[in-house]
Amino acid sequence: MTSIRSISSTVDLLLGTEHKLRVRTARSLIAGGVYLFCLVVQFAAVVQGSADRTKALAMSGFILIGVIGSYVAIRSQWSLRYKDPALTMSQMLFAIVAISMAYTVNPDIRGIMPMLLALVLVFGAFILSPKNSRRLGWMAVAALGGVMFASSYYAPSVFQYRIEVFNFVLSALVLPVIATLAGQLSALRSAQYLQKIELRHALERVRQLASNDELTGLPNRRHVMELLKHEERKALRPTAPLCCCLMDIDYFKRVNDSLGHQAGDETLRQFSKILSQGLRAGDVLARWGGEEFLLVLPGTPIEEATGVAQRLRERCANSENWVDAPKLQVTFSAGMTAHVSSEAIDATIARADALLYQAKDAGRDRVVVG
Ligand code: GH3
Ligand code: MG
Ligand code: MG
Repeated sequence: MTSIRSISSTVDLLLGTEHKLRVRTARSLIAGGVYLFCLVVQFAAVVQGSADRTKALAMSGFILIGVIGSYVAIRSQWSLRYKDPALTMSQMLFAIVAISMAYTVNPDIRGIMPMLLALVLVFGAFILSPKNSRRLGWMAVAALGGVMFASSYYAPSVFQYRIEVFNFVLSALVLPVIATLAGQLSALRSAQYLQKIELRHALERVRQLASNDELTGLPNRRHVMELLKHEERKALRPTAPLCCCLMDIDYFKRVNDSLGHQAGDETLRQFSKILSQGLRAGDVLARWGGEEFLLVLPGTPIEEATGVAQRLRERCANSENWVDAPKLQVTFSAGMTAHVSSEAIDATIARADALLYQAKDAGRDRVVVG
């Protein structure tokens, strides 16, 4: 148990704890592992006598410094100051330089260097912009040309001109093509990523539109019906009563007629806001349609639910300055009832509706309970 804990804390220390940082440091350590493997192979070549020990040591020193340096830069989060904290471009440039050095150290296997360069360029498909990827392609060609030229100059005895020129021409044709394709793939990936984000936003908007009323932002009739069906199942247990209160603004037509439809809309918005502010956690106010609203009070005894509705009624009746019309008074009538566990929820709402009409008949601005 303690050993598992100590392993996991060592891993945390090596990689960091934040997800993105862990991905970056893990990648940098994997790259380091690949370099180390190559260095082991390199020293096998030295032992066999096919590579020069001093040159191999110099190259190993360079590679180790690069590997440790990039790990430290990423792990310490120093690299966060750059747009790409994974330092992809510099790591790839480093790889190109390391491969170029390997070219001079290993005359016997120079033929595989273009292939290794191509492999490095393929990694650009994951992150580099098309422009940077193309740039890197040309840098790879230039680096290969440079070390070829230097090798032919300083060590002409081991330089096979015909093969090397052929290799270079082929690389100068193929590497830029690979870099271009990798860049295009990368652009495609980022376009897809953006599309994914746009789709997520659009989906969120559609969800919002499907379940909320556009004018007031309250849950709409469809949404509150889903909620009621859910509450209906819960209310089968007698410990969780469910109350429904249907409300209708009194003489709302007059607001529209005297102040205009826009002022009517604004009144509906203000009404929703004022009532929402007076709700308890867990209660839901939905726009039922027009100037009718449904208040759902799950897990509430009817006396308590009536108290809530009365408070909302007073809150509404005492509010002033509706749509900058100081004389306007807004009241509502309501029918309040409790769901009976044996009945369908539609029957509960029909009862609330009938009670609402009783409230209207009795003179409005009141809550009738039944
Ligand atoms: P009562 O006290 O009997 O409920 O009278 P009322 O005037 O409120 O009732 P009525 O059903 O006669 O009129 C309701 C009005 O509500 C008519 C309709 O134009 C208006 N209305 C419904 N939805 C909206 C809306 O979204 N915006 C606006 N501005 N008015 C709406
Ligand atoms: Mg109405
Ligand atoms: Mg009305």
